[in-house]
Amino acid sequence: MTTSTTNSKSGLQQHGTRDAGFSGGQTLLIKNGHVVDPQNNIDEQFDVLVEDGVIAKVAKKISDKAQKIIDAKGLVVTPGLIDMQVHLREPGREDKETIETGSKAALAGGITSVVAMPNVTPVADNQTVIEFIVKRAKELNLVNVYPTGSITKGEKGETLSEINELKRSGAVAITDDGVDVQDEGLLKRAMEYAKTCDMLVMSHCETEDLTEGGVMHEGWVSTQLGLPGISALTEDMAVYKNILLAEETGARLHLLHNSTAGAMRAIREAKKRGSKNITAEVCVQHFALTDEECLGYNTNAKMYPPLRSGDHVVAVIKAIKDGVIDAFTTDHAPHIEPDKIKPFQDAASGFVGLETSFAVMNTYLVKPGHVSFAGALEKMTWGPARILRVNRGHLSVGAPADIAIFDTKKEWVVDEKKFFSKGKNSPFIGKTLTGKAVSTIVGGVLKYHQGEML
Ligand SMILES: [Zn+2]
Repeated sequence: MTTSTTNSKSGLQQHGTRDAGFSGGQTLLIKNGHVVDPQNNIDEQFDVLVEDGVIAKVAKKISDKAQKIIDAKGLVVTPGLIDMQVHLREPGREDKETIETGSKAALAGGITSVVAMPNVTPVADNQTVIEFIVKRAKELNLVNVYPTGSITKGEKGETLSEINELKRSGAVAITDDGVDVQDEGLLKRAMEYAKTCDMLVMSHCETEDLTEGGVMHEGWVSTQLGLPGISALTEDMAVYKNILLAEETGARLHLLHNSTAGAMRAIREAKKRGSKNITAEVCVQHFALTDEECLGYNTNAKMYPPLRSGDHVVAVIKAIKDGVIDAFTTDHAPHIEPDKIKPFQDAASGFVGLETSFAVMNTYLVKPGHVSFAGALEKMTWGPARILRVNRGHLSVGAPADIAIFDTKKEWVVDEKKFFSKGKNSPFIGKTLTGKAVSTIVGGVLKYHQGEML
């Protein structure tokens, strides 16, 4: 049976039953949108035709017949975004987030692929947990979920995980994110092991001896609030340590959530030396906000790395402009309300970012003219795909049809009650952002459209 419906308000025409999905020769045509695909150097009005879940054509005025047509007039069509640092909390803390709610939050943000951090319960340090995440994501069939395994058993920093086993089970990288591997000898062995099985190492850079119970960036604001600070040196030293070990071992190293001027300098120098095995990301909050968000003991602004002072933010933006940074991420870290409604010192670190990251990038980096839209978008599409070595993040013919459609002019006020994520904390709550996902397509299937999951 075939149905034909047109919803002129949403710009979506549907021919055929929605339930049938797009397998078996199904076609989707996105018309009249402004296509921005940094990898293929496309930045102009094009139509995009999708067949059998892959990109079939990107050209002017495609007249092929399609079962579903999306009119993207006035909108921007991009590769689906890839977020390399996401905490989905499942298994173990389904009260905070599940693979399902996290995936829906991703879809609402135009994100079609996420890299899941291994600090779940039990820790993803073995085949069983990795396979569970892969299987659950497959059942849900919402976004592409790439699991990571931990560097050390239980993320305890004592014994190495079976990196080869993690890789065979489907992990795309190893990381002890949430903490850092403090023992340099162990970290060096981990990198040597990772190198032998060509596994990516992702490091959360923190020198615990220097953190000294700090709860926010150490500076004028922490003094003002009378809160113990985390010195920028905590991160700087760990970044240097990781870079030197990666240069020595030749392992592929990706530096997570860099936030300090010192980290920018270290990464810049390493790249200048020609260290091609080292990549680095910045979380969007670290170029958007400063530690002044913590004023009033605002626990929504508590995270690790902490929001830094203005001089660090300037250095981060300068590094982005100079091409030192490879990817933008969220470090999406949902918590239950009772863990955030606490005195600042005791509150949990982290907030939810999947539904705001595109808008934060657009509002704080593109709108003020720091970088071009295509340049910034590259850090959320092809940039991460290249590091992860996955065939996504671009709209080449034959590539999986992961596509996002954005209204880059849409102004909206962040309201936690509208989050699909179970986490309701964000320093962006109440702020006006510009740019919002209208439609998100994964593997050729429209999964999210105008505020609704399909
Ligand atoms: Zn981290």
